[in-house]
Amino acid sequence: MQFKDLGLDNRLLKNLKHFDFKNATKIQQQAIPVAIAGKDLLASSKTGSGKTLAFVLPILHKSLKNKSFSAKDPRALILAPTRELAKQVYGELKSMLGGLSYDASLIVGGENFNDQVKALRRYPKFIVATPGRLADHLEHRSLFLDGLETLVLDEADRMLDLGFAPELRRIHMAAKHRRRQTLMFSATLDHADVNDIALEMLDAPKRIAIDIGSAEHKDISQKFYLCDHLDHKESLLERAIQEANYKQLIIFTATRVDTERLTEKLNSDGLKAIALSGSLTQTQRNTIMSQFERAVFKILVTTDIASRGLDIANVTHVINFDMPKHTEEYVHRVGRTGRAGNKGDAISFVGPKDWDSFKRVETYLQQDINFSQFDGLEGKFKGLKPAKQDYRGKAKSTKKPSKNTKLKTKKAIKRDKSFHQNVSVGDNVFIPKKKSQPKTDED
Ligand code: ADP
Ligand code: MG
Repeated sequence: MQFKDLGLDNRLLKNLKHFDFKNATKIQQQAIPVAIAGKDLLASSKTGSGKTLAFVLPILHKSLKNKSFSAKDPRALILAPTRELAKQVYGELKSMLGGLSYDASLIVGGENFNDQVKALRRYPKFIVATPGRLADHLEHRSLFLDGLETLVLDEADRMLDLGFAPELRRIHMAAKHRRRQTLMFSATLDHADVNDIALEMLDAPKRIAIDIGSAEHKDISQKFYLCDHLDHKESLLERAIQEANYKQLIIFTATRVDTERLTEKLNSDGLKAIALSGSLTQTQRNTIMSQFERAVFKILVTTDIASRGLDIANVTHVINFDMPKHTEEYVHRVGRTGRAGNKGDAISFVGPKDWDSFKRVETYLQQDINFSQFDGLEGKFKGLKPAKQDYRGKAKSTKKPSKNTKLKTKKAIKRDKSFHQNVSVGDNVFIPKKKSQPKTDED
């Protein structure tokens, strides 16, 4: 099915020609007619399947066809969890605005507040924003949402994970009128909190789920390597990079500090790597992203700040140096590659510290995961056994555990003390120090 079969306004079809897309993707085929009909929508489809246009096109189509509710208030507001993603969505929206007399604004944290107030005084019809800064502007009364026609929550589950529920509720209350339409999108919407917020913010939504996040992503080859300790992980990383025939590569680490440490190491090995984390100023973040997008640097070392939504054409490989804390982030991190029908490779390192997260990912993906090895770099760690009496220092069976074993695994993970004492993997085991959870990046 082509875009022209979706009943879209001709001016949009003309702008779409620049992209040279043959067909609308499945999510676009299903979501666009529902959104044009004015229904609320809870839509999920795999990473890189074109969700952005699935909400941008109906917003613009409706604006072209209908009179606005108000002269000054924005007609549509699109919210995204990170500044980088908001910026990208804004770019995609702008590319569809060619030849139309609409103005749009990007309102994200880290940028000058007063400049944004000035931009909002020009009454842009479309706003792309991060929820925190948008809520600040509501409080400051720099904009009103009484006339809002469409509210989009892109990566809705991540906004909730980041603790933005209060801001989302405030925005919802500011735009609470019968005719407002709300659209929620993500590759992973099977989250209990998403249901709660959807019940509050959506009105009898239509649910569309195509190739959801936990389903196998056929375009991404996913490999897992067991490792013993930090030095071992770094040796594996070196080998993985040497063997990867990559154009561009994203490495995810657990903490901001690790992004910097690893980047220094990679650069001292003669590779062109750059670190992106939430501890940088927005100007630095913008420069880094732009340098990575232009492939000035081929390797980006980052945290979950970059796990969501970012669409960079030449990212052929993703490496999880550490497993993510939130299970869904695994799906989103690896989804930075294998986009729009391209193939991608994802590699994850699983040390004793990652085991708990790895098991959760394995359960979430409902896949039989076999570990891969690099010749000469085999480690001793074979995984943690769920129960003490089962532990004989033998290799972990790669057979998928039965339902019962899975339940036992969960219990064993909760018993944190015995958990790490049971590791028998040579001398250099890295046992987590007693400290608070590492800081992850939040926007
Ligand atoms: P998602 O939000 O589902 O992760 P995006 O909206 O970021 O995916 O789109 C991923 C990539 O696919 C982008 O580069 C986008 O330009 C491209 N794309 C969007 N629609 C189509 C289409 N119909 N055919 C081919 N590529 C598309
Ligand atoms: Mg997206």
